[in-house]
Amino acid sequence: MKYDVIIVGSGLGGLECGYILSRNGRHVLLLEQGGQPGGCLQAYQRCGQFFDTGFHYVGGLESGQSLHAAFKYLGLLNLPWHRLDFDGFDRVAIGDRMFAFAQGYDAFYQRLSDDFPAERVALRRYVELLKQSAAQQWAVLSPDGTGSDLLPENMAISAWEYLKENFQDPLLIDVLSGTSLKMELRKESLPLFTFLHGNSSFIESSWRLKGSGSLIVNTLADGIRATGGEIICNAQVQELVEKDGRLTYAVCSNGERYEGSLFISDIHPAQTCSLIKQSSRMKSLYRNRIVGLENTFGMFTVSLCVPPRSLHYFNYNLYVYREPDVWTFHQDNRPVSGVLVSCRIPEDGSEYTQQVDLLTPMTWEQCRTWDCTKVGRRGASYRCLKESMAEECITLARQFLPELKGQALSYTSTPLTWRDYTLVPEGSAYGVRKDFRNPLQTFLSPRTPVPNLLLTGQNLLLHGVHGVTLTAFHTCAEVLGREWVWKILENK
Ligand SMILES: Cc1cc2nc3c(=O)[nH]c(=O)nc-3n(C[C@H](O)[C@H](O)[C@H](O)COP(=O)(O)OP(=O)(O)OC[C@H]3O[C@@H](n4cnc5c(N)ncnc54)[C@H](O)[C@@H]3O)c2cc1C
Repeated sequence: MKYDVIIVGSGLGGLECGYILSRNGRHVLLLEQGGQPGGCLQAYQRCGQFFDTGFHYVGGLESGQSLHAAFKYLGLLNLPWHRLDFDGFDRVAIGDRMFAFAQGYDAFYQRLSDDFPAERVALRRYVELLKQSAAQQWAVLSPDGTGSDLLPENMAISAWEYLKENFQDPLLIDVLSGTSLKMELRKESLPLFTFLHGNSSFIESSWRLKGSGSLIVNTLADGIRATGGEIICNAQVQELVEKDGRLTYAVCSNGERYEGSLFISDIHPAQTCSLIKQSSRMKSLYRNRIVGLENTFGMFTVSLCVPPRSLHYFNYNLYVYREPDVWTFHQDNRPVSGVLVSCRIPEDGSEYTQQVDLLTPMTWEQCRTWDCTKVGRRGASYRCLKESMAEECITLARQFLPELKGQALSYTSTPLTWRDYTLVPEGSAYGVRKDFRNPLQTFLSPRTPVPNLLLTGQNLLLHGVHGVTLTAFHTCAEVLGREWVWKILENK
């Protein structure tokens, strides 16, 4: 059988493209190397409880906001979304001071202006830029591209330089950057475009799921199957075979071959290139450029099962930093000095949470020693490292949550874990490192030199649930046309 579209990888990007194209009459097949779909969004179960891997919150879901129309189309608006605190959905603790991010641009401005009255004018300018950025992220998809002029410019501007030039108070710069563990806060590379995107939708409105991120995965997977699409797990694509300048079939590790007219890759672009062993289209110039791309750092996560009735549910995310200068806290060989603390909504109707997640950046350098090992077989020194990092995270979080005592059961993951489960190079959390010094090379297009191969996912334009969704629509616009995609998005 020949499929209209074969998608390599069923992470969020692959699932969203599969859903959109299947709903539009294409016969779609998703090939996933893992035992379940979802990639970074998959959940796992321990001691009868479900834990999330790569999902804690998302922004912009209200009517008229930046993710509403896309999520409506994808059937994701009906999930049990729970709005985080209006007057402090994110809270940033630096030393012993705490600052709150309020939802809504005006409330966000007002709240921080009260804390930093001397910076009112700069804060107003910043808020206007955030608003513009939220509007323009989708405008790049408009058939005539109107309103998107600012995007390329912001891709070539340093986020750090922008903040330094715009604000006088270094503490305010730290506060504004303090919720940015959800991107790679790196002075030398982070583009303003990525920084604004990583903040704007959450300020529009911020939401947590009552349940795990797998609700998103299951909704999309069910939608694909309902429209005749197929998802095959434990199917690692090993080769994409080209004939007469076009891809013709995918070969999986179990020897199965799947024929297709169009191929979309949701995996890392360097891995995509390596799947095409012989090509008259993909020249070494393109391959070398893609293989040479750097990756963002990974994450160390601690999932804590807290004892029953010991910790009240808190309806916000807490970012705790030991000391100021949040842009350097992730550097190698330093103790953990910044952590994101997020808790799970009680599903039993009580006011106590049973799960808390702690996240802190972790570089590949810190993991390199165990590069050649596999999950569960990395030895005592690795266990020691994980235990000491978990303890540091808990100690930091405990400054504001004294209820987090030693007896909690915990599960940890490192970039090695991510690498082994999703095959992502270096266990990178957010894919290819976007770089304001080289935007043309690091913000990738869905198109490739092979005419029937497109790319999607967090490695291209933007990461996170919001960014990957936007990117999926970009990819599908290459198949269905911009006019069609714009019609969906205008239907807010
Ligand atoms: C710790 C952490 C926390 C996060 N928290 C949030 C959050 O709170 N909010 C938010 O918006 N975003 C969050 N994110 C980011 C978000 O989860 C990701 O941006 C998004 O899920 C990436 O989706 P993707 O489809 O691009 O890639 P992936 O999820 O990496 O999907 C790629 C898929 O391809 C499969 N694959 C790889 N190679 C092959 C092959 N050869 N053959 C077949 N299949 C293959 C993999 O198994 C995987 O399923 C977080 C990420 C991390 C790491």
